[in-house]
Amino acid sequence: MSKNLLIQGLLILLSSTGFAQVYTLPNLPFEFAAYEPAVDAQTMQIHHDKHHAAYVTNLNKAITGTAMEKISMNDLLMYASFRSATVRNNAGGHYNHSLFWDILAPKASQRPISKELQLAIESKYTSIDSLIATVNKAASTRFGSGWAWLVVTPEGKLAVYSTANQDNPIMDVSSERGIPILGIDVWEHAYYLKYQNKRADYLNNIWALINWGAVSDKYAAALNDPLLKEIEKDNWLAIKDFHKVMAQTFHPAEEKNFAPLKSRSGELYAKAILLKNSTPPVSANNAGIQDALTRLEKQCLDIHQLVQKPAKDEEKKNAQLFEMITKAHDIFHEVEGLCHD
Ligand code: MN
Repeated sequence: MSKNLLIQGLLILLSSTGFAQVYTLPNLPFEFAAYEPAVDAQTMQIHHDKHHAAYVTNLNKAITGTAMEKISMNDLLMYASFRSATVRNNAGGHYNHSLFWDILAPKASQRPISKELQLAIESKYTSIDSLIATVNKAASTRFGSGWAWLVVTPEGKLAVYSTANQDNPIMDVSSERGIPILGIDVWEHAYYLKYQNKRADYLNNIWALINWGAVSDKYAAALNDPLLKEIEKDNWLAIKDFHKVMAQTFHPAEEKNFAPLKSRSGELYAKAILLKNSTPPVSANNAGIQDALTRLEKQCLDIHQLVQKPAKDEEKKNAQLFEMITKAHDIFHEVEGLCHD
């Protein structure tokens, strides 16, 4: 069989199986020894060929045959709180290490920082050296395994923080969110052979390998990435909080079960107040949102007051409550809609 026919056959086979998502281990762009002396060749080899490879294998194993085959890596990460520990750890492990290899290069192959990133760093951290000190502090104070990050926040600003294990700032489990453009692996597998317990020495030396040109590319890409807006919306914790109580009271009411609403109307009202006083995403339609949140708060107060009022006709009260919670639910979706403008 000619090579072309073979490729055609493979394509037909692939299309008939629906192009399932399968992740592959990216090649390291340089020889293992090229990262010395900052990181020794054996560490690079084990780190890439064993650790990173295992994250890829385990991720593929976990998603094969599930709905997760069809969704993007960003969606896998973004909703990490809803996924199994296996998916969270291995999707994170694959994403984080792929980013790490992208930004590491031996001196001769490094490209300079962009003017834009340099200015952004200087305006926030005064100098690159002080940014490095900030990242190293986040990295050295991360207890146990994890990563230190330089991220672009939903507001388009730079921020530094660390996450545990293979979590990262795209994930909804991270208390601070954004798109990472630089990450330092502080798992012991990243440095133990050469540095043993001396994480600080590894942190001082790893910067010799940082390719600021690659970090600059990621900075420019992050600023224009639609994912940033998705994270911003997902990061409005007050609305997530409100949504949870709304869902847990409204949906039972749809099935004529008013017990959750009656026992939690005070909580619903309290969450509406917190939501009203929170800061919506900067890209959202603010005047419209403030107006809708004011109406939502009033509606939840009315619901709470009706719940507390003794009623002769419980059926009639339930019908009235249902009408009111439905309206609150509509206003809530109005707020959500305003975020999508
Ligand atoms: Mn690692």
